[in-house]
Amino acid sequence: MISARGIKKQFGDLQVLKGIDLDINSGEVVSIVGPSGAGKTTLLQILGTLDKPNAGDVIINNTSIRDLSEKELAQFRNENIGFVFQFHQLLPEFNAIENITLPALIAGKNKAKSEEKARYLLSFLQLNNRETHKPAELSGGEKQRVAIARALINNPAVVFADEPTGSLDSQNQEELHKLFFQLRDEFKQTFVIVTHDLHLAHLSDREIKMKDGFVL
Ligand code: ADP
Repeated sequence: MISARGIKKQFGDLQVLKGIDLDINSGEVVSIVGPSGAGKTTLLQILGTLDKPNAGDVIINNTSIRDLSEKELAQFRNENIGFVFQFHQLLPEFNAIENITLPALIAGKNKAKSEEKARYLLSFLQLNNRETHKPAELSGGEKQRVAIARALINNPAVVFADEPTGSLDSQNQEELHKLFFQLRDEFKQTFVIVTHDLHLAHLSDREIKMKDGFVL
């Protein structure tokens, strides 16, 4: 479902990705692991179309990213890709349901239908009584689950997560581990996760190991 071919990326003189080829199948939960500075986040940003490689191409669901204009890319991203970051990045002035439905409204979807889907996700994520809570009124684990619901609202083919358990305590980490697999089983989504969380990596269908800008 995702193919990366010959991905190279440099920042100034620093060659961060040195020629990466990889394929990720639909419905896989894949972890990208390796030491700090290996290029994991840079690769995730490129696979997630948030950044462009200096060479190579990413193909997602038969669409070559290289061929899309900025406008087409923004639309493609909103419709096909969800993101979860280490720090939830929820909008502080919006409550849970408003944060979750925002990408759907940006995609021009019906508000009532989007709220219905958001409520379903909230209940799946055991957050049904948190609908009108703002981020400051939620625990760390709850905020991260709201961020996951937001990532899933447009039913993306793939969710990219960068250190999603990095800011959580061990109990919330364990819960999130289970959740990724429950979500994959329920919604058939593909998850690509950059993580230092070795337990999560070991639970994954596959670990992609990176070092010095290469996949090992
Ligand atoms: P990892 O996620 O494996 O820790 P990163 O992809 O974050 O690695 O970073 C790899 C290298 O690229 C690091 O040396 C980092 O400082 C550098 N780097 C990442 N992003 C940028 C950027 N926008 N500008 C300059 N250097 C960057």
